Amino acid sequence: MTGHDRATPRRAAVIDLDAFRHNVRTLAALAAPSETMLAVKANAYGHGMVPLAYAALEAGAGSLAVLDIPAALALREAGITAPIFAWMHDVGSDFGAAAEADIDLGISGVWQLDALAAAGASRAPRVHLKIDTGLSRNGATTEDWPGLVRAALDYDAQGVVRLHAAWSHLADASPADDAESLQRLRAAVEVAEGLGARFERLHLAASSAGIREPEARLDLVRFGIAAYGISPFDDVDGRGLGLRPVMTLKAPVAAVKRVEAGHGVSYGLTYRTDSDSTLALVPLGYADGIPRIATGHGTVWIRGRRYPIAGRIAMDQFVVDVGDAEVAVGDEVVVFGEGDRGEPTAEDWAGYAQTIGDEIVARVGPRVDRLYVGARPEGMPEAIRLERP
Ligand SMILES: *Cc1c(COP(=O)(O)O)cnc(C)c1O
Repeated sequence: MTGHDRATPRRAAVIDLDAFRHNVRTLAALAAPSETMLAVKANAYGHGMVPLAYAALEAGAGSLAVLDIPAALALREAGITAPIFAWMHDVGSDFGAAAEADIDLGISGVWQLDALAAAGASRAPRVHLKIDTGLSRNGATTEDWPGLVRAALDYDAQGVVRLHAAWSHLADASPADDAESLQRLRAAVEVAEGLGARFERLHLAASSAGIREPEARLDLVRFGIAAYGISPFDDVDGRGLGLRPVMTLKAPVAAVKRVEAGHGVSYGLTYRTDSDSTLALVPLGYADGIPRIATGHGTVWIRGRRYPIAGRIAMDQFVVDVGDAEVAVGDEVVVFGEGDRGEPTAEDWAGYAQTIGDEIVARVGPRVDRLYVGARPEGMPEAIRLERP
């Protein structure tokens, strides 16, 4: 047995690879015949990039999306051979390394193509030209689009790049806004075709439009948050979409004490017990991703019941008022999980913290161990261990 085999880790995010595979399969089936690209950016939304990448490919994703070139290279280093798409670049980005590693590049400006050409790589990577269809982040403006297309055609003819796709990203503001963005993408494609461009793929939708707007699926959908079991919508949760939460965040009770009525708890003493009560200390705080703004709203699950967090959430810890319940040091505290036993979900925490479930899982910090359960993805590096469930 190694140090990894610990019955009660101090702080753990348990990642259920089977739940993740179920979600990827569900979404890929929904989107078919459109292809599924799975977003594992931001360390797979906090879940751990490499294991989730292997599980996604096994469950039907044809390609992976990460933010930038370093993340894409890390996936190649971990043995991933499937197409990997990266779209956020800066003047220091290593376009040459990306080309050598056959990374698909999202391209928003001519300077990126120039940098790629200047790198003098021995291979021509596939490029996906991005048009800004309303989100106003990256992507060429309508004015800059013809120049970007011409430059890509030139570099394609020189063997520096392979012109592969045109794409954009939606604002998820309303179906009408999304329909307008789709029109803008189609108009941009028409302009590009007029200049001689031929695209093998068009893509636009992420989870939200991928699930609800079939006309936006085009050739492929870039699914992210839904694959982690969290709904992109306000009117239905992940379970309502047939998805399973993938991450369970937990920690053992670190201290227990009995106090009298009127006892103040945590910084500022903003909470006072209303009767004699038992307080349990949990070693997770905002440095681990527990949002401090959830103070006064958050609940956690201990021994089959939900209890309120008492007083301010601190950097490393928070306190739970369990009343007269029997709670002992070492008891498991589930901050959020699947929700099927009644424990809070990441979506519940999004409500406590006035945010979205994406932020709740993505912000889980580096002090929290990621523990993987479920079937081992084939080909995943041996160094990544799986726990027994
Ligand atoms: C994050 C991201 C996605 C995935 O979005 P979800 O809403 O999480 O499904 C897709 N495409 C781009 C460009 C993204 O930045």
